[in-house]
Amino acid sequence: MNRGRTLPLLFALILAGCVPTTPAHSEIPAPTQKPVAAPAISPVPIPAPTVAAINVTLYSTNEADSIWVVADKLRPLQPKRYVPAGLKTINVPHSSEPTLRDDAAKAYLKMFRAAKSDNVNLVVQSAYRSYSTQVTVYNGWVASLGRKAADLQSARPGYSEHQTGLSVDIASATAGCTIQACFSTTPEGKWLNKNAWRFGWHLRYPNGKTAVTGYKFEPWHWRYVGVELATELHLTPKITMEEFFNLPAAPDYAP
Ligand SMILES: [Zn+2]
Repeated sequence: MNRGRTLPLLFALILAGCVPTTPAHSEIPAPTQKPVAAPAISPVPIPAPTVAAINVTLYSTNEADSIWVVADKLRPLQPKRYVPAGLKTINVPHSSEPTLRDDAAKAYLKMFRAAKSDNVNLVVQSAYRSYSTQVTVYNGWVASLGRKAADLQSARPGYSEHQTGLSVDIASATAGCTIQACFSTTPEGKWLNKNAWRFGWHLRYPNGKTAVTGYKFEPWHWRYVGVELATELHLTPKITMEEFFNLPAAPDYAP
């Protein structure tokens, strides 16, 4: 073999691309890309929010001084002229005296400060109302609306949550819609819907529940029930206290 002639020829062929400089792919075992098996995930069921997560008998729903008391048109306060102990007037914006029971007062203050830090300005429209104040309020509604319409938005004396010191009507400092359904569309109404439960407050008269609560939609009326129950109720939107505690619907007063 004449190496002197063969080598230049080989270089020429390489330059022309005729001789493969590396073995054909078929000669190299293809890299095996075995799929890595995903670790077996055993399905863990996510429990649906349940109303049975708390002990529903922890507090009384009958005693007027219980944070879970359910007062409605079939469940007057006992006694009807009940006066709560430990009423406290707090220093917050208001259009009537911002007095609540001590535990509700503390919870309102916490909520008020949290709202303020979000630039939401809550105003107490009405808080604790005594039996005699409720006489005046109710009679005023009856005078202007008639008894039937008045009963849809104001409790008769002895039947009002406001008499427990655990309820507050809240207004917006700027947006209007005071004691109107459109309060739910104000920054204050929206903030309360999203956050009030975290401070123990429950929307007592939700939209579409008049047949249960006896009252029309009252987005301004918040009831202190404690964080534990407020959380449970929040997990089940629009559930009423009557439904939660399996109590009879109270669309109207007993004849
Ligand atoms: Zn109210």
